[in-house]
Amino acid sequence: MDKLKKTQILSDSAQFDLCDSKNKSKKSEVNLPGIYPATGANGCTIPLFKTLLTNKCNNDCKYCINCSKRNFTRLELSPRELSKVFLNYYNKAYVNGLFLSSGVNHSIDETMENLIDTCNILRKDYGYQDYIHLKIIPGASKDQIKRAMELADRVSINIEAASASGLAELSSTKDYNKDILKRLKWIDKIAKRDKTLCPSGATTQLIVGANNETDDEILKRMESIYKKTDLRRTYFSEFIPINGTELEKNNECNLKRTNQLYHADALLNDYHFKTKEMAFDENGNLSLNEDPKILAAKKMEIFPIEINKANYHDLIRVPGIGTKSARRIINIRRKKPFNNIDDLKRLGVVTNRAEPYIKLEGSYQNSLDNY
Ligand code: SF4
Repeated sequence: MDKLKKTQILSDSAQFDLCDSKNKSKKSEVNLPGIYPATGANGCTIPLFKTLLTNKCNNDCKYCINCSKRNFTRLELSPRELSKVFLNYYNKAYVNGLFLSSGVNHSIDETMENLIDTCNILRKDYGYQDYIHLKIIPGASKDQIKRAMELADRVSINIEAASASGLAELSSTKDYNKDILKRLKWIDKIAKRDKTLCPSGATTQLIVGANNETDDEILKRMESIYKKTDLRRTYFSEFIPINGTELEKNNECNLKRTNQLYHADALLNDYHFKTKEMAFDENGNLSLNEDPKILAAKKMEIFPIEINKANYHDLIRVPGIGTKSARRIINIRRKKPFNNIDDLKRLGVVTNRAEPYIKLEGSYQNSLDNY
């Protein structure tokens, strides 16, 4: 089989690993296997080469296209072969970086060594200096994680579920606490000890809808991880049943659910909300249609707040006020209090969302009942 065909199969096998929440429908401009249009920090598109070293895997994760029990074409590229395929794309400017993962072939140790070898070949033999996102295999040793972090810009380890029992429903071969959470803590410790490592930080991914875990349980897990580590972000991958897996007859997860989880996760991670401030339905899930920040605000007793007096914590709880506009409000009101809603609009506040929750110099802008 030629390298292009192999690359097609391995990159198709990597499709469920996410490194971007926004590009689900975006297509790469270049029609070659493995090119994944990720979104950069400023919203621009960054094409990455996203692939596996091998789709051979000993593990039996029931949601996964590469599950050991599935019958399909299994193959691998050596670290040097993969490096060459990648550099061929990179040198032709088809991609700006690499997102590399792997099925667990033979042993965790060997798989991790192959991933590290690929990065070593790229960095040391070919002098490649651009972006690498490297997947850490659950159960990898501390030494391997450190070496991976010395070579990659970003590392990630997928937690897949919100709890040990949730993961046990999906995989009999991974230990949630030992193989995953413990490694996540190691990544955090290593990064804190040497701040030059892994400048783009660490991320994780969860499969949503493959088991019965609720949004409340998922967000509580993320809240606890954000509290204990500097994890940059979480990717929520909606469960899609795959032929030949044990879950092939289960229902697909609604895309709206993961979109709402992204909103709520941003409230946890960027706005430092607590899950207890959020509104869940009687089943412990977020509404599929209403903005989690508005639903949380409707539950809070602090509103309406006075724009000229409220602290940062309360300002960012107002729907329509983001972290940047809250900081601007605090800076500007020191010199001159706000008395006009249009002044807030000019700062970037979405005033039609914010109005029911704020007062300006004692005057209500709009009552919650009228909203
Ligand atoms: S470890 Fe699990 S999720 Fe990863 S490739 Fe293997 S079967 Fe898939």
